[in-house]
Amino acid sequence: MKNLVYYLNRPGGEFEAVEEALPEPGPGEIRVRTLRTSICQSDVIIYRSGLPRIKKWPAIVLHEMSGVVDAIGAGVTKFAEGDLIALGCDIPCGDRTCIYCGDEGTGDWTSCPNTQATGHEFPGFARRYAVLPQWFVELGPIMKFPAGFNPDHACQLEPLACSLEGLTRVNNCIENRVVVLIGAGSQGAYALQSVQRMGARKVILVNRGEERLQRVLRDFGDSRVVGIRWDDAVIENVRRECLPFNEPHFVMVNAPVQAAYELATKLMGHGTVMDGHAGVKNAGGKPPILHQVDLNNDIHYKLQCYQATHGSSMHGIRLAHQFLSQGGLPLLDRMTNDTERFPATKLREAVERAADADSLKVIVHWD
Ligand SMILES: [Zn+2]
Ligand SMILES: [Zn+2]
Repeated sequence: MKNLVYYLNRPGGEFEAVEEALPEPGPGEIRVRTLRTSICQSDVIIYRSGLPRIKKWPAIVLHEMSGVVDAIGAGVTKFAEGDLIALGCDIPCGDRTCIYCGDEGTGDWTSCPNTQATGHEFPGFARRYAVLPQWFVELGPIMKFPAGFNPDHACQLEPLACSLEGLTRVNNCIENRVVVLIGAGSQGAYALQSVQRMGARKVILVNRGEERLQRVLRDFGDSRVVGIRWDDAVIENVRRECLPFNEPHFVMVNAPVQAAYELATKLMGHGTVMDGHAGVKNAGGKPPILHQVDLNNDIHYKLQCYQATHGSSMHGIRLAHQFLSQGGLPLLDRMTNDTERFPATKLREAVERAADADSLKVIVHWD
């Protein structure tokens, strides 16, 4: 038996299929057979223009995956052959003594100076088989799903975990509250489904493009959800929907643009929590987005909170696993329609489809 690996030869280049010897898992390691990979917007960026974090080309990209444990190395007890698993993207650095990622660490992997992620510094899952090292198996974000669980759902563990990190870092800001979601892409759609499950009082979804806004409203909306076009009147239209409150309780930035941050800060009011969920990056790096805050009147007296999460820790991964395995997102299949499913032989087409203005979640099938 051979392994099949798709190397992206360079940013903007081609996926080249290479047959390699099937790797055997050593002591403490597991071998995983890929069932699904889903495409993240970061994969689109990596495919088009690369990323400073990826230092070596050709590269094995794609980080959202579900698979089956195919072989286990000596001494592995946490997993058995045949287990259906899914992985997080942010992973420990591999140093067992690390204060963030090690055996006694805090688990805040993205704070580690040697932070790494699958499909970035660590090879991704554009391959049929992968061996995960012992530290990954013992400390990393690997979640097991019950036999027969839908691998299409399992592979969305990681993007859902990222959204849930942002929704849960601050307590008491979703349940029975007015929530504004800026951006109706895949992260916006996960957030919408999650806050519905978490008992939001009202959800106001803001998006520039009409096509995707209508798709998300049609497929995931209910009586608590309204959509608002992001135009010149967006602030007054959002405020009107917040009534009888004067402003929202929670504003999540899911669009990776400076204008989304500027809009979010203008919606801050009494007790509003802002989650800067989407980072802003361009060819020149990460631009500063400056905003003046009054620590006494705004933070102390109005109880405003500015916070952010990026990526996912075990907290988000466990929560996403719980949501998925308890059927908490019953409409999840609507994230992916027939035009968003591809075989592994069409990786380039899959990534290009994920870049379309109406697309939510593209899934690649490996079996
Ligand atoms: Zn992702
Ligand atoms: Zn570390």
